[in-house]
Parts: sequence; C-alpha cells; structure tokens
Amino acid sequence: MSKKIIIIGSGFGGLGAAIRLAAQGHRVEIYEKRDRLGGRAYVYHLQGFKFDGGPTVITAPFLFDDLFRLAGRRREDYFELVPLDPFYRIFDASGRSFEYNGDAAFTLGQIDRWNPADKPGYEAFIRSTRAIFQKGFVELADKPFLHLTDMLRVAPDLVRLQSQKSVYAYISQFIRDDFLRQVFSFHPLLVGGNPFDASSIYAMIHYLEREWGVHYALGGTGAIVEGLGRLFRELGGTVRLSCGVTEILVRGRRATGVRLEDGSTQTADIVVSNADVAFTYRNLIPEQYRRKFTNRKIDRMKYSMSLFVLYFGTRRRYAGGPLAHHNILLGERYQGLLDDIFNKKLLAGDFSLYLHMPTLTDPSMAPPGCELFYVLSPVPHLGSGIDWTRAAQLYQDRIIDFLEERYLPGLRENLVVTHHIDPLHFQNTLNSHLGAAFSFQPLLTQSAWFRPHNRSEDFDNLYFAGAGTHPGAGLPGVLSSAKIVADLVAGEAG
Ligand SMILES: Cc1cc2nc3c(=O)[nH]c(=O)nc-3n(C[C@H](O)[C@H](O)[C@H](O)COP(=O)(O)OP(=O)(O)OC[C@H]3O[C@@H](n4cnc5c(N)ncnc54)[C@H](O)[C@@H]3O)c2cc1C
Repeated sequence: MSKKIIIIGSGFGGLGAAIRLAAQGHRVEIYEKRDRLGGRAYVYHLQGFKFDGGPTVITAPFLFDDLFRLAGRRREDYFELVPLDPFYRIFDASGRSFEYNGDAAFTLGQIDRWNPADKPGYEAFIRSTRAIFQKGFVELADKPFLHLTDMLRVAPDLVRLQSQKSVYAYISQFIRDDFLRQVFSFHPLLVGGNPFDASSIYAMIHYLEREWGVHYALGGTGAIVEGLGRLFRELGGTVRLSCGVTEILVRGRRATGVRLEDGSTQTADIVVSNADVAFTYRNLIPEQYRRKFTNRKIDRMKYSMSLFVLYFGTRRRYAGGPLAHHNILLGERYQGLLDDIFNKKLLAGDFSLYLHMPTLTDPSMAPPGCELFYVLSPVPHLGSGIDWTRAAQLYQDRIIDFLEERYLPGLRENLVVTHHIDPLHFQNTLNSHLGAAFSFQPLLTQSAWFRPHNRSEDFDNLYFAGAGTHPGAGLPGVLSSAKIVADLVAGEAG
C-alpha cells in the first residue's frame, strides 16, 4: 500500500532512500534546509569555478547504478563516471611520492621502489582483507543490525577477522616500512576514523577501491546529485528546499509527521531522517519522548573529527607538475598528529592534507586556463573549544604557505578565488553534533548493532539513512543505509 513518507535531508543517504521508496510506489517528500540538494556534496559556484564541497572519491559505482536500474533507467543517461588512474598519489614529508591503482602488478612495482621486502606482505594483506571485504561489505553492509542476535551471529567472524585490532595494528602485521604503513592505513580517515583505533574492518576500504576502482563523475560530484534529483522527481517525488524541519512529531512509539521552520506541520506515515542522528534525537524530538537515545547517551558517544576545507582557484594551470587528481600530502608526524586531532583535540602546528585537483581530469570545472583545487585538513571537532571565527584565517594562510612552498609555486599571486568551511559549518549549516564531519567515530563499539539502528529504537516508523547509522559514513556506507531503510519499509509494508 502506498504510504506518505517524509525524508528529512537530501544528502546521498536521503536521496538514495527517497529514490528507492518512490520506486516502491510510495509518496515521498524531501525536506531540505539548504537551498540545494546534496548535503555534504553541496556545490559552490564561485567566479566561474565549480567546487564540489564534499565527496570527491567515488567508489563502488554499482550502488548508483542500482538506483537507476530499480527505477527502470540507465545511470549512463544521467551522468558519466570515468575511472581514475592512479587512485591517489601519496607524498611523504620530503615530497617523494607513491601511487597505486587497481592493478596489483603496478602497486607491487611501487612498493618495490620503497621497500622490496614488503611485497610479499602486501600480497598477504590483500589475501587477508578479501575475507574482511566479503564479510564486512558484501554480506553485512546492506543488512540491518536491529537485534542483539544479529550481532551475536557475526561475533565469531569478527573475532576470526581480528576486528578488535586497529587498522594500523592490522596493517603492521604485514607491512614493515613506516611510510607504506601510512599509505595502507589512512583509509579510516575517509569515514571519520583514526587509523589507530578504528576497527580493522575498515582496512577493507583499500580492497573495495581495488575491486571496483576509483571514479570521477564528469561535471563533478554535483553532477551525480543533479542526476539523482532528476530521477527522484521523474518518479513523482517532491522536493522542498530551504525548508528545515524543526521537530519530528511523535505519539507514543510512532512518528506522526514533522513541524517545519514556518511553524506549519506535515503528517506522514513514515519519517526517514537523513539529518545527523545525534542532532535528530537531541534537537528534533523532545527528550521526554526518548527512552534509549537520551541526551546523556548521545553526549557519551564518540564523534569523528571535523574538517577544514579550503576551496581555491588559480588563474594559471598547474597540470604537468607533481600532482595527480587525488593527492595525499603526509607530514612528518602520523600517529602524533592523529592523536592531537582525535584525542588531545589540539590544532597542531603541522598537518597532513588531501589535495583535490579535478581540473586535471575535467577542465570544465574552471574557467579556461585556470585550475581548481580543494585542500582538506582533518581537525578536532568542536569539543576542542577552538574558536574558529578567529582561527580559520590563520589556518588558511598556513595551508596556502605550505602548498606554495612545496607543491604549487607562485600560488598566492595566482589565486583568484578562495572559500573555506570549518567545524562551525558542520555544526551550524549541516546540523552535525559537535561539528563532526562524519558523525559517530567508526569504532568497533559504535559499529553495526552498536551504532544507532536504521529503524529507531525509540519510534517504530522512524528510520535513519546516512552517516550516523549502520553501516556508516562515506558514499558506499550511506547508499547502503538507504537500501536497508527501503528494504525494512518494504518488509513491513508487505
Ligand atoms: C569534505 C568532505 C569530503 C568527503 N569526501 C568523501 C569522498 O571522497 N568519498 C566518500 O565516499 N565520502 C566522502 N565524504 C563522506 C561523505 O561525504 C558523507 O559521509 C556523506 O556524504 C554523508 O551523507 P549523508 O547521507 O549522511 O547526508 P549529509 O550529506 O550529511 O546530508 C544531510 C542533509 O540533511 C540536511 N538537514 C540537516 N538537518 C535538517 C533539518 N532539520 N531539516 C531539513 N534538512 C536538514 C542537511 O542540510 C544536509 O543536506 C566526505 C565528507 C566531507 C565532509
């Protein structure tokens, strides 16, 4: 039977759930507080440059294809994905680089240049992460963990796969070279985790990249958002932009609708929140109605780091230089820096950066003869007490100096546009608790059944799709959460 379903938020989790539920025949409405779809994948159009605000590394493209296929369409008719090679170029503090792609022989050749003794270890690492990938991604990422028994069933596998180890400790069993350990352990940072305490389950991200490649959408990630928005509208879905939800209306164990910023209310048979889970419980549902997710519980959970992202365009090109499309610029410190960010919550004097240079693949993102970049620096979340209204400009200047000195000569005099986001943006614009960029930290104790469930433990017809629920942050994670929500709704409607 067709139901009226309200989706709060239009990140990839919200869009994925909206499309799947609309394709099931439900009447689906998206309410988004910002003026465009996409959530963290918001696009900034500045002086002829088109900056993707968030995700740039597109993996597991079949998850997008599935959305179009179940609606009887072809993804290729909406946007084009091109594979990238290399996946990343990773620089050590001295500027020496390493790169890898999906070709095992090529990657082994790169390892040979750094530390030939690690080649057998890398091959053993791949063999062992295949099992983690099979269990953790293929079998469990798109299945709900609603009951303790779901968790108990997989517990022996988690023990067998050494999930209690951190990603770094896991890698270190196979790889001895200090720099190569960093190269094959940084992946939890892509989903908000510290490689030194994220469960080794996340070591499989490297395997996932090899399996399906790293892709770029022509026109940027914004082209994917546009394609999904178009598909949703074609399926009869309704989008209300600049229309924030201020409350989820509840009666007993049921959500009955939402209140909007203008004070009006909308009834619904089902509510799906794609807004930050901690924010949803803390700010959209009065505490007296919540038994499990009390403010105290929410405050005691651990949150991912935040990010400082600087978007910039230059009047000259830098193609032909040392940089690739995706670059990771590692600094002198690895564990110490991560400890500052995640545990001590200090804004360190040094940094490790991700540098995105999409105009190498797609010059149409910038005016002719120009180059477009974004540089991302993990920073502590707002639990640090750092006053970003004062710290941001200085931090931006330091990053520009660093890039100019080592990678982009003449950067400052060639800058035509800059824009930045910092933890305050995550808190105030995206409604993320503590300004965390990836919601709850991906610790074993906050994964699967231990993560807030895809169907609320407090309200029977309230669902969650997005980074804060199972399986977690990153596009493959949030698109999988959308599938879980749609499957649960289908199961209950059927
Ligand atoms: C800078 C950056 C780079 C990243 N890079 C990558 C990458 O390369 N690859 C990758 O896979 N992942 C990447 N990630 C992670 C990935 O982008 C996120 O995990 C994912 O996009 C989160 O999607 P989501 O569905 O949880 O929703 P979000 O994108 O968090 O969207 C939630 C939406 O809800 C809206 N909302 C909140 N409150 C309300 C309300 N009260 N009423 C109405 N609307 C509301 C918000 O405005 C927002 O639009 C990156 C993240 C960031 C921040």
